Amino acid sequence: MPVTDSTLTSYQDLLAAVSATGEGRDILDPATGELVGKAPVHTVEDLEKAVSAARAAQPSWAALGHAGRREALMQAADAVDASAEALAELLSREQGKPLNGPNARFEVGGAAAWLRAAASFDLEPEVLVDDDGGRAELHYRPLGVVGAIGPWNWPMMISVWQLAPSLRMGNTVVMKPSEYTPLSVLALAAVLNQVLPADVLHVVSGGRDVGETLAAHPDVDKIMFTGSTATGKAIIRSSADTVKRLTLELGGNDAGIVLPDADPKAIAEGLFWGAFINTGQTCAAMKRLYVHEDIYDGVVDALAEVARAMPMGVGLDENNVLGPLQNKAQFQIVADLVQAAKDAGARIVTGGDPQADQPGYFYPATLVADIDNHNPLVAQEQFGPALPIIRYSSVDEAVEMANALDVGLGASVWSSDKDAALAVAARIQAGTVWINKHGTVDPRMPFGGAKQSGYGLEFGVEGLKALGAPQVLSY
Ligand code: NAD
Repeated sequence: MPVTDSTLTSYQDLLAAVSATGEGRDILDPATGELVGKAPVHTVEDLEKAVSAARAAQPSWAALGHAGRREALMQAADAVDASAEALAELLSREQGKPLNGPNARFEVGGAAAWLRAAASFDLEPEVLVDDDGGRAELHYRPLGVVGAIGPWNWPMMISVWQLAPSLRMGNTVVMKPSEYTPLSVLALAAVLNQVLPADVLHVVSGGRDVGETLAAHPDVDKIMFTGSTATGKAIIRSSADTVKRLTLELGGNDAGIVLPDADPKAIAEGLFWGAFINTGQTCAAMKRLYVHEDIYDGVVDALAEVARAMPMGVGLDENNVLGPLQNKAQFQIVADLVQAAKDAGARIVTGGDPQADQPGYFYPATLVADIDNHNPLVAQEQFGPALPIIRYSSVDEAVEMANALDVGLGASVWSSDKDAALAVAARIQAGTVWINKHGTVDPRMPFGGAKQSGYGLEFGVEGLKALGAPQVLSY
């Protein structure tokens, strides 16, 4: 169907298309507590049907070849563009993130951009050997059916990160969204399914049992998982019997290191968004900031000035750029960690005082200074709008503290001297190290974690290869 005929361009139509027809689960707006809609509650039986249908559809999807699948993904991106405003509104209501700022509209735009990127990369067979003894080539064949399990923080964007390279490589996909944000993923899939062939993309909106069954399923060839490290470990276990391929994008606790030559005012806004994008609910957000003692007070003051000026509130209000925490459990994690930091004598520079009488899980942007590196707010992934700022006196000490945890998704170094920053970056154990910015992902740059932040790469040509079965032809 041409995208111009889409019926899913209005919010009401989109919501109606994905809501439960019978009994459903109430999805409440985390900013207001109002009912957004009723999500279907799919079961393990529904999952079985989805996997069978995806398996049956896979050969003809693969037979389209790269050219046909590239074309389909480009049409899918156009479909997202056509429904962009409706998708952004649903995402904002369900997830809580504001329409503006690097939030809901930005996420929907990213979903379209990553679809186009996955369609655009060339993946030619690699010639490994070509001499008198013979020739060998490396090809990437479809794997079959890919199961995609996702989190609640960037539900549309992360779904596309999982499904776009999977489809491009000739696989069909069964998605299991987070219980907290199923409508966003169902809506995205409804939009994409206007242009994709039947049964190529399924969403099973179930709970943990559905995720577990998908990870163990004998007819699923690979799991793309984004979520917590604890769940990643459970998936490794449940996928073991079928020796399933895995890409695991897990938790992080990204460090930022500010070198003594940085200009506090010049970096303050970049530091802020590096830490507080999506109100801190971002895997590769800066979650602990190490600042040299010579400029510590200047950085804390400049950052506080930026933080205090950022409007937080209901997502549909065009003025806001920070929203609520997505769910009560996450709110409580942040509140408890900040309280523990206070109790241990750390200094709350700004924030730290959620209003008990207002609806919604709003926790103010919070900066915590003069905090010990072993405090739980530093050592654990707080996944919210609370940034601990730790003082250091030597770069060796800062690097040691940055590397001391068992996760390593991203990190950043902030300095006026690029070479000095690059030299520090080379010593940090993280999948990506940014200089004078943090968390800016790009579909051309492979992304993945070090240590217990996971394994496997997403994005770029490397990301496509991860969704193929490598096959050497030797002749
Ligand atoms: P989570 O691990 O609680 O849940 C993620 C998904 O796994 C959900 O769909 C859930 O239903 C499912 N699930 C739960 N138990 C399962 C099991 N035993 N088997 C199979 N599936 C199961 O994560 P979350 O709270 O939704 O997301 C927040 C976490 O995700 C944070 O730790 C964050 O750092 C991480 N994250 C990582 C990245 C990355 O790219 N590395 C990106 C976003 C979020």
